[in-house]
Amino acid sequence: MIESTPILMAVDLQKSFRVSSTLHSNRLLRAVDGVSLQLMTGETLGIAGESGCGKSTLAKIAAGIMTPDSGELFYKGELLSKLGKSEWKNFRVNTQMIFQDPFSSLNPRMKIGDSISEPLKIAGASLTQQQIELRRIMDAVGLSANTADRFPDEFSGGQRQRIVIARALIASPEIVIADEPVSSLDISIQAQIINLLMQMKKDFALSMIFISHNLMVLRHICDRIIIMYLGAIVEVGRAEDILNSCKHPYTEALIAAIPGLQTNNLNSNKQLKGDLPTTNSVTSGCRFHPRCPYTMDKCRNEIPLLTESKTGHAVACHLSCI
Ligand code: SF4
Repeated sequence: MIESTPILMAVDLQKSFRVSSTLHSNRLLRAVDGVSLQLMTGETLGIAGESGCGKSTLAKIAAGIMTPDSGELFYKGELLSKLGKSEWKNFRVNTQMIFQDPFSSLNPRMKIGDSISEPLKIAGASLTQQQIELRRIMDAVGLSANTADRFPDEFSGGQRQRIVIARALIASPEIVIADEPVSSLDISIQAQIINLLMQMKKDFALSMIFISHNLMVLRHICDRIIIMYLGAIVEVGRAEDILNSCKHPYTEALIAAIPGLQTNNLNSNKQLKGDLPTTNSVTSGCRFHPRCPYTMDKCRNEIPLLTESKTGHAVACHLSCI
């Protein structure tokens, strides 16, 4: 059940990286540029956008494993930057991440049982408790407890992602942040892992952030979806509203690229033009204007603000005000 209180809240997060562009100069890449969001208790919040839009950086900041340049993160109403040592440890145990690549997520020299138990060990659980919980979680994710002494290279990609999921869940976290958890897996395995994650979410009463470039995946599992473009949120709303009546031309283009799906309200025959630019190359106005089929003079000069309707559907586009 989704509660009306946010378990995690981000306010105006900013994160930039220096990247080399030419032999003698560096440029600043604004990976996350003024992002605010709320993850409600019990909610599955999807984050979508092209590769390089800042999704993964945002995920790492939300999980507490990357520090933002500015902005604040609140966990159950408490400012994360002000948490004491034990409260911080509690947050880290209660907020787990599942990464895209199960091959690099696991230590190849560590038995999978030891890898899975690690968060419990960090939380200070006894050896007996670790062994009991290891059996329980391996069973829950469909792995035989008899395989706990094996090494990661003895498992397939799908099984490794089950191991990673088991490790994320063994300490009974409240929040799971899954960053493209199925995109490196065979199509035939993807549905199994998504179904497993959804079952785990239900069984463990998780609040979840699910990051994917695939809106069709998010459509089935998310309560709300955020659309990101060049480090910023351009649209957010209930999953059915985003898929059936999107309001931002970028969302429209993402949906238009999905075979068999069409939007109801805007011109659905609009594909994305050109490559994703860097944030530095869009110096004024709407960051989507160089690729937008609806660009007006106002779009080149004025930044559209993310404006929320009564239903909670928010969009950053001058067109939606017309
Ligand atoms: Fe397109 Fe203008 Fe809307 Fe930006 S503000 S998405 S350029 S119509």
